[in-house]
Parts: sequence; C-alpha cells; structure tokens
Amino acid sequence: MSSSIPHLLTWARDILAKAGVSSPRADAEWTLAHVLECPRSELLMRARQPLTPAQNATFRNLIHRRADRVPLQHLLGNTEFYGLPFRTTPDALIPRPETEILVEIVLDQLKNVTKPRIIDIGTGSGIIAITLSKALTRSHVIATDISRKALYLASQNACLNGVSNRISFLQTDLLTSFAPPEGFDAILSNPPYIPSHAIDALQPEVRASDPRLALDGGCDGLDFYRKIIPTSVPLLAPDGLLGLEIGHDQADAVTQLLARQSGLTHIATHTDLGGYPRAVLARATANC
Ligand code: GLN
Repeated sequence: MSSSIPHLLTWARDILAKAGVSSPRADAEWTLAHVLECPRSELLMRARQPLTPAQNATFRNLIHRRADRVPLQHLLGNTEFYGLPFRTTPDALIPRPETEILVEIVLDQLKNVTKPRIIDIGTGSGIIAITLSKALTRSHVIATDISRKALYLASQNACLNGVSNRISFLQTDLLTSFAPPEGFDAILSNPPYIPSHAIDALQPEVRASDPRLALDGGCDGLDFYRKIIPTSVPLLAPDGLLGLEIGHDQADAVTQLLARQSGLTHIATHTDLGGYPRAVLARATANC
C-alpha cells in the first residue's frame, strides 16, 4: 500500500471509523502530525512527502492502538488545557474541557485577591492547580492527591509550565490526613463523581483508560462532595471560595449539600455554553 500522506490518512480514517472512534479523520491527522513532528495544519502541504519505513510503521501501530480505543491523548502523550500543555498518562484523569469552566470562574472571582492561597483537592494531572498558578503569579497553591503517581505527573506538568515554585504537592486522602493552616482564599476540586454503577456504560476510552479512582464517586456519585464540603469550610478564610466541578445532573444535589452546611453563603451554579451545569461555588461566611 502507498505510504503517501493522503493514502495513509484515508486508511487510518476508515479503520478508526469502523472501530467506532467518534472523530476518525481528526484523530488520524493528529496522530500523523505527531509521528511527523509537525503541526497538523502542515499535513496538507506535505501531501507528496513519503514517510520513512520507520514513520510508516509507527503510524500504523498507533492507529491500531487507537482502534483498540486507547485515548488519543495517551497515544500522543500530551494534550492542551486552558491553552497550556500537559503531559498525560494512565496515572490520572485525562484533562477535560469542562474543567475550564471552573478555572475561568475562579480566576474571575479571585482577581482582586493579592496573594491568593489555594488548595486543589485531587489534583490528578495538576490542571486546576497549574492553570491557576500560571495566571495568578502571586498565588500559592497546595495540590493534593491520594495517588503518588498522579502527584508525580502533576509535578512534571508544573515543571513543564514553569510554576513548580508556586505549588506544593501533598499526598493525602482529601483533606483528612494532614492539617493545613486555615485561611485559604479558595478550595477547589474536580472530584470523582460518576456513580459506580454507571462506569461500565462510559465510552471505552474513559472506562478502560482513566483510573477508576479518578472516576468513581460511590453509589450516587456524591461521596466526595459529602466529604469535601464539611472538611473544607473550616479551612476557608472569611469570604473564601469553595468551588466544585459537578456532573451535568448533580447541580441540585450538590447545591443542597452546600446549603445544609453551616458557614457557607452565595451558593451558585455555573453552566457551560451548552447550558449544562458544570460547577457549583459558594463563599464562606465572615464568621465560619
Ligand atoms: N483535578 C483533576 C482534573 O480535573 C483530576 C480530577 C479527578 O481525578 N477526578 O483533571
């Protein structure tokens, strides 16, 4: 078979489409651009350039793995979140664009805080801690995770983005096994929130490649909200922000948990461009 770029892309697209990959042409192009180490936009200009046998073999191998529903981000080893580069490995959840909503709102709400002190609970690949740290140059962020491997990935990502000196990484189960000082301006989390019984129905890329630890929110998906909310409130500064990403159908349940917790006010749900609720925020009362 010819190894010209147009032929290879057609071959790859057909294999991926047959395997049920949702964007077969785009995935084929990203993969080829990765193998050729060029921007995706240059593929067309290189249409006549033949691949070396090694490039050809690497590309075919990657396409077969993608057809086995290995996520594209794991094949390429990186992705973008909020315009920044992140390494991805099976040790942490693949960054999701939905999480950009939480980051966006928090950046807006912290814009008048001079030296914000922030905790990111369950940091995974580090996206929340790192994007905030990058934008808030006078901030200090504590990024926690129960997984040592996830923390290692997050610390590599902090290094990649030049913010290692503004983030402390702590291995701990939520906030339970260490005693941070009080007075945080923001405590944030994108916790595992998929109900256990729903995990098997997720698309193969998610259920087989994201760590179960990062997905499983217990019977009704709300276990982590029940734990995070009461342990966070005593650590917030007066008017401090508690910000939680939520599943698209969890706004009412999480809002109720926040409303039942003493010491919180200004509870608000934020939606994405499609109108789906993606984050719930609350403020600490002055005397909590
Ligand atoms: N905070 C990380 C992210 O948003 C990890 C989230 C998780 O593991 N549930 O990607």
